[in-house]
Amino acid sequence: MAKTFKNFIGGKWIAPSTGRYFVNRNPADTHDVIGRFPDSGPADIAAAVRAAQAGFEQWSRTPAPLRGEVLRRVGDLLAARRDEIADAMTREMGKVLAETRGDVQEGIDTAYYAATEGRRLFGRTVPSELRRKWAMSIRRPIGVCGLITPFNFPMAIPTWKAFPALLCGNSVILKPSEDVPHTAHLLVEILLDAGLPEQVIQLVHGADTAGRALVEHPGVPVISFTGSTATGSAIGQVCGRMHKRLSLEMGGKNAMIVMEDADLALALDGVLWGAFGTTGQRCTATSRLIIHRKVHDRFVARLVDAANKLVLGDGRDPRTQVGPLIHAAAREKVEQYLDPVVLRDAEVACGGTRPRGARTANGFFYRPTVIVDVKPGSRLATEEIFGPVLSVIRVSSYEQAAKVNNEVKYGLSSSIYTSNVNLAFRAMEDLQNGITYVNAPTIGAEAHLPFGGVKQTGNGHREGGWEVFDFYSETKVCYVDYSGSLQRAQIDTYDV
Ligand code: NAD
Repeated sequence: MAKTFKNFIGGKWIAPSTGRYFVNRNPADTHDVIGRFPDSGPADIAAAVRAAQAGFEQWSRTPAPLRGEVLRRVGDLLAARRDEIADAMTREMGKVLAETRGDVQEGIDTAYYAATEGRRLFGRTVPSELRRKWAMSIRRPIGVCGLITPFNFPMAIPTWKAFPALLCGNSVILKPSEDVPHTAHLLVEILLDAGLPEQVIQLVHGADTAGRALVEHPGVPVISFTGSTATGSAIGQVCGRMHKRLSLEMGGKNAMIVMEDADLALALDGVLWGAFGTTGQRCTATSRLIIHRKVHDRFVARLVDAANKLVLGDGRDPRTQVGPLIHAAAREKVEQYLDPVVLRDAEVACGGTRPRGARTANGFFYRPTVIVDVKPGSRLATEEIFGPVLSVIRVSSYEQAAKVNNEVKYGLSSSIYTSNVNLAFRAMEDLQNGITYVNAPTIGAEAHLPFGGVKQTGNGHREGGWEVFDFYSETKVCYVDYSGSLQRAQIDTYDV
């Protein structure tokens, strides 16, 4: 009998008010059941908001350096349990152990970064325009933060949101992806073990019903969402109407540009990792290869050869290089792009089918797929597929490559392989993305730098680095007049 998990609300592990549960299965082997998790509803969210409001009263008054101490202990506990969490994460999400260990490591780095920020969290003191008067800004906590996260980084993304939110003195309600609830459960266990006061963190499992209730609750002034652009734009409408602070991190259609002067061996390693790492299920995955015609044929031949050799299977098997997709619907979505009506004149150079054999028989596997002769503007060139599918687009110049890169509604990540330093710097300016890599693939963000995208990938905020603390805190300006007389600021008088 599979284990039944609970929500964490008001300092207790409790069953959902709905009485409903969903089953969490291993995507590499659907016979392997991880557990039953709550399919929560609006009443569970309402209870979580009440508890989080009480938690906020306490936590917002705790000095930031002490809040940082709790997060440092969280980092220590994550480090101590890294391999065990990575194993659990691979079992529910599918990506290989090296990647899930990296996912936990991102949480560790984010915890330590946030911990030290407790001793900074800078405001500013600036000269006043008046005599005997001080002018300064400080940061204030905001309130209850609702965090809604996707399946593909089950630890990293919840920590990107929760740790800076907590460091800034807010309380948190985490609504993790229904596809990876076990990792979120382990994270909350660790937060509690580290000494976070119980009311400060609430964990409410569930799918869109729980997510919607969180977004629509008037007691939650801050929403941070990472997921698909379709879901994010629906959330944006509600938050706009309700005057909520909102951070959106959404889809991508990331391109790697390979110029004729590139180091092709380096570019080959980069594209294999960027396109097929995490089975292509990264927001920053390399989904398009934009390649100069002079090196196209040579490069594609080597790419196809290498892609055909990638070993598929359970991510906990050390031989495995590519795990499964997250669920049946994700694989079916990939298959839609292999329909001849969608392919039109494009050609499948490798992959394009489900694999055969015992290693992959019970999971949602799909062969690494390279599609050539993809036309700019076509569906394969512009839509997020979120699977192990690479669209190859042939170009004749840097200018054309940059234009193709920019011809999509998304703007998360891009990369260029070239040995021409002038082109590299032009690309950093020209490519319309939140992140551009030079001589590296489209993936590989570091915890201490801001992360996010332009156009329909985001709404202007960034996760990670120093910028995220702006999102989770309110700037308050304080003036202290110690002149003993009424002084008027420049806005109220011409006298200096
Ligand atoms: P998704 O949009 O299906 O789900 C994300 C989360 O939103 C889940 O927790 C889900 O339960 C919840 N949700 C669904 N409908 C909701 C609603 N109406 N109201 C509130 N919450 C709702 O995304 P996914 O399939 O889990 O993740 C894949 C997507 O995430 C891809 O598009 C990928 O590009 C994107 N992503 C973006 C980034 C980034 O930083 N830009 C990072 C990772 C993933």
